[in-house]
Amino acid sequence: MPVSSRWDIDIPRVSLQQWIFGSPTGPLPETPIFVNPSNPSNFLSKKTYRLLGKRVALGLQKAGLKTGDRVLLFSGNNLFFPSVFIGVLMAGGVFTGANPTFVPRELAYQLKDSEASFLIVAEAALKTALEAAREIGFPTERIYVFGGNTPAAPELVMAQNPAPGAQGRVEGVKHWTELVAGNLNEAEYWSWEEPLDTSETTCCLNYSSGTTGVPKGVEISHHSYVANGAGVAFMTKLDPEWVEKQKRWRGLCFLPLYHAYGQTYFVANFAHLDIPTYVMAGFDFVKMLEYIQKYRITTLAAVPPIVLGLAKHPLARKSDLSSVESLGSGAAPLGREVCEVVEKGVFKGNLTIRQGWGMTEMTCTAMGWDPVRQVPSIGVGEMMPNCSGRLMSLDGKTEITKANERGELWVTGPVMMRRYWRKPDATAGTTHRDDDGTVWLKTGDIAYIDKYEPGGIFYVVDRIKELIKVKGNQVAPAELEALLLDNPNVSDVAVVGVTMDGAEMPRAYIVKNPASKATEEDIAKWMEGKVAKYKQLRGGVVFIDAVPKNPSGKILRAQLRERAKNEVAGP
Ligand code: AMP
Repeated sequence: MPVSSRWDIDIPRVSLQQWIFGSPTGPLPETPIFVNPSNPSNFLSKKTYRLLGKRVALGLQKAGLKTGDRVLLFSGNNLFFPSVFIGVLMAGGVFTGANPTFVPRELAYQLKDSEASFLIVAEAALKTALEAAREIGFPTERIYVFGGNTPAAPELVMAQNPAPGAQGRVEGVKHWTELVAGNLNEAEYWSWEEPLDTSETTCCLNYSSGTTGVPKGVEISHHSYVANGAGVAFMTKLDPEWVEKQKRWRGLCFLPLYHAYGQTYFVANFAHLDIPTYVMAGFDFVKMLEYIQKYRITTLAAVPPIVLGLAKHPLARKSDLSSVESLGSGAAPLGREVCEVVEKGVFKGNLTIRQGWGMTEMTCTAMGWDPVRQVPSIGVGEMMPNCSGRLMSLDGKTEITKANERGELWVTGPVMMRRYWRKPDATAGTTHRDDDGTVWLKTGDIAYIDKYEPGGIFYVVDRIKELIKVKGNQVAPAELEALLLDNPNVSDVAVVGVTMDGAEMPRAYIVKNPASKATEEDIAKWMEGKVAKYKQLRGGVVFIDAVPKNPSGKILRAQLRERAKNEVAGP
């Protein structure tokens, strides 16, 4: 019997935008909901967030967007990001966000794979975007420059003509404010069309390599985003004290908004709950500390390197972080020792760090904590409402129903992806259908449960999939391997993750062409500029005679991972 959640809740059958705003035209608060921390007079209220979203939606529709068309946003965070995200959904489109540090090849891949109809791009990333567009023949007329000439008060953008400056700088490329120019009055009364079936309507294509291969578009439905938010909201309300606390909560978003973690947490859930968020342009540790103190931030959503930074950075102990009431971490493993250093040394015992487990294929989170259970733990929580998990033997045939025994984690629930975009084989390979029709996601994570029953706490202890996580970002070995095989010095290669100084990094095992004189450094250098910085071979390059493979040619990654571990541990 799988471990189901202790709670089965009603999930509204509405679009994500309807869930956040309640209705397309009803009254909404005018207090700040997204604030620029470097200039707090720049903000959006929930009312202007919706209005700007509707203006983006109308603009996209007028520019030719049809239901189901993809819009790719290639930008770091800014105040308008949430409105573009929700505007795409309001227009009936599908949002796909790309990491703003991508090089042209990486962006071209996502642009082509998603067959996006529009590309909205940060001014700073325009050069990369134009190169990517050229590479795949994407029309420049469908590129809009984003951000740049941000007016002092964002609300003004709605009353203004397109901001001058970026417009016209590159032939054919428009400024995004052209999308919204002149449609203020129309947008006030305009209503989006609700999807007929929110489970069957994809709203986001979030890219993930899953358990194997190159990045794939993960189709997440409106229903899954709403289920994620409804589940989180339900759990926080289990403690009446938290309900009171939430009224004065303030979030600080340094997570990238192109990713589901930032989107679900702030753009959807915090906005739904009317909790204001200070939106940082990107992560900056010292600024983070400064803003926590300046704005008395109460709630932090982090990844392990940030918690590690809090443990190690001398400024963390010198800062007054007493306003912080909750600190969550996800995306990669985090040890209890580090948590304790931070809890005691930085937060003076006022909070317990909580880990959650999630996966792009499960919208974002599938496990979390009931706030009443304030027990220090390295566990990643219990199943979120309406979700179930089970542990399986590695051949996928037997369920492990005992407490504290390890197995592959399989999960299911309303937050589960619909499928991989146009990749039925990959979808079939990662899922399992029970006789009763329940579809499970095979996560590639190894876990155990302290009690094999509802409410049991899960512990994630290993990863058997190829995926490497660098500072919470996905690195797909298959992508790096394909690239390295293009190097004339390389005849075969396998890339695995290795942990150095507490951080996971990609390490390449390379069989050189016999005639090659290249050094390890030459290979590592060759990668620079070909992939985003976080995918660089910081875990090292090692020359070997042959890549270990099984008789059918599959790389024996576990063997290489073990070898890497021993090599970095030294003699
Ligand atoms: P992503 O799809 O990028 O969110 O990556 C999902 C993967 O990150 C999971 O399958 C795990 O391998 C890893 N992961 C996420 N949260 C945790 C956690 N709290 N502890 C350990 N690994 C995690």
